[in-house]
Amino acid sequence: MPNKTVTIVGAGLGSLATALRLSYKGYDVHIIEKQSNAGGRLNILKQDGFTFDVGPSFFSMSYEFHELFNSIGEPIPFELNELNPLYTVNIAGSDRVFQIYKDLDKLAEEFKGIEDDFEAKARKYLKGAKEIFHDTEYKVVKKNFDSILQFLLSMATVPLKHLPKLFRTFWEELERHFDSEEVKIIFSLVAFFLGATPFNTPSVYNLLNYTELEHDGYWNVKGGMYKIVEGILPLLEKKGVKITYNTEIVSAQYNNDTLTSLTDNNGKVYASDLFVVNADAAWFRGKFLNRPKFTEEKLDKLEWTLAPFTIYIGVKGKIDGIHHHNYFLGDNFRDYADTIFRSTVTPKKPYYYVNVASKSNANCAPEGCENLFILCPVPDRRVKPDWSDAETLANEIIEDLGERVGFDIKNNILTKVVYTPEDWQKMFNLYKGSGLGLAHGLNQIGAFRPSNKDEKLKNLYYVGASTVPGTGLPIVVIGSKLVLERIEDEHPLV
Ligand SMILES: Cc1cc2nc3c(=O)[nH]c(=O)nc-3n(C[C@H](O)[C@H](O)[C@H](O)COP(=O)(O)OP(=O)(O)OC[C@H]3O[C@@H](n4cnc5c(N)ncnc54)[C@H](O)[C@@H]3O)c2cc1C
Repeated sequence: MPNKTVTIVGAGLGSLATALRLSYKGYDVHIIEKQSNAGGRLNILKQDGFTFDVGPSFFSMSYEFHELFNSIGEPIPFELNELNPLYTVNIAGSDRVFQIYKDLDKLAEEFKGIEDDFEAKARKYLKGAKEIFHDTEYKVVKKNFDSILQFLLSMATVPLKHLPKLFRTFWEELERHFDSEEVKIIFSLVAFFLGATPFNTPSVYNLLNYTELEHDGYWNVKGGMYKIVEGILPLLEKKGVKITYNTEIVSAQYNNDTLTSLTDNNGKVYASDLFVVNADAAWFRGKFLNRPKFTEEKLDKLEWTLAPFTIYIGVKGKIDGIHHHNYFLGDNFRDYADTIFRSTVTPKKPYYYVNVASKSNANCAPEGCENLFILCPVPDRRVKPDWSDAETLANEIIEDLGERVGFDIKNNILTKVVYTPEDWQKMFNLYKGSGLGLAHGLNQIGAFRPSNKDEKLKNLYYVGASTVPGTGLPIVVIGSKLVLERIEDEHPLV
């Protein structure tokens, strides 16, 4: 009897991890990808001798990658590199550049004269964050839910002492532990990854400070993040997984409770026993399955994560005043956070993140040069649909960065690419350009998030940022495990 066939829409990390798990079990997998290469947001850009990571530049919870490759009995096909320091933070108006170390003794030195008794306060704060991480990891994150009731019952087993955290914000929790603005600002940056600001993110997410500062820290990949994709592809090939590139799925055909086929932009039809969608799980349901809960009007009312405005520049010369991972912030944190996601105009004095991969990977820039990846969180296209002013924002950021690191970047640019939220939307079908997919407020996690199992079609599943458990590289890898569990349970191989 032939193996069960699975068609996967999209070749992002969630898809690749799912394809690995399924193909090593014996499922016959075919991936359809609209782009000309695999990886989705985890992608690579090569231009004029420079190589850039397009999206993710580091990740937490590296052990999820080990779990993935252990589960298929293969050695991990890329080399992980722990970040130390984790990152640096520059705050406008201050001469100090904060190096954020995992080692609290060293970190205390950074905040000397700014936060009295920092180490003791940080240990107390991180103890609470650690408890909530370990008390929720298996009850909320690494679990499939079939109903809201089942999810709430699982939540009810989380120790009651964490309850007040549901009613405080991330920032309020920080205020209970620290006095200085600097510490509060720096510790709250991680909240932006969830799609909101520290002023409206629940304090349960302080657990992310534990993941970065104590638990597993941050990691990247030797030779660039795309090595993850390059490491996975030969394993898929070995297992006979077929990938069809430059092909976009544009419609779905279904019969009662079964998805029968998908059709691409050339009219070609793909039939299989099972389907997994790695395109945005909320958007796909509205666009191709016409689900009333996911119309554009309803999607617009959901909370979406920040939209990326990204700049990739190759620079002639070595820039001493900058490190591998850097945040550049202004001096109006609260005002900026309160308005940035709602503003219909180009941000003035923008806050941004800069990754300089050439600091640790000489191969990604010609000799004597640096490659800079700049990420500026901006409003998504629900709020600011028109990005024809992209050059103005790009120039403003490049000038600001040049001044702050004391290097004439503007006049030493050898190559430059800018992606606006409009580009991100077009490239990977990201809803209105939201970079990380659906946000993670308490009403959009667990059973409240679009499920990884379709509500009506019994052979359709989802993996990736906007389904469970959520966004980020290790989290979509967890998502692939949750999908495998469902498929093996509901459609086992005979
Ligand atoms: C700028 C930026 C920076 C980031 N930085 C980090 C970071 O530092 N660390 C971290 O952990 N995470 C980071 N993230 C988040 C991380 O990239 C995502 O959470 C993760 O890559 C999402 O993977 P996914 O499985 O959802 O697939 P995606 O990457 O969304 O891939 C889905 C694929 O499906 C394809 N597709 C969509 N629709 C169709 C269709 N109809 N037909 C065919 N193909 C289709 C797309 O082209 C795409 O290739 C960042 C994201 C962005 C945008």
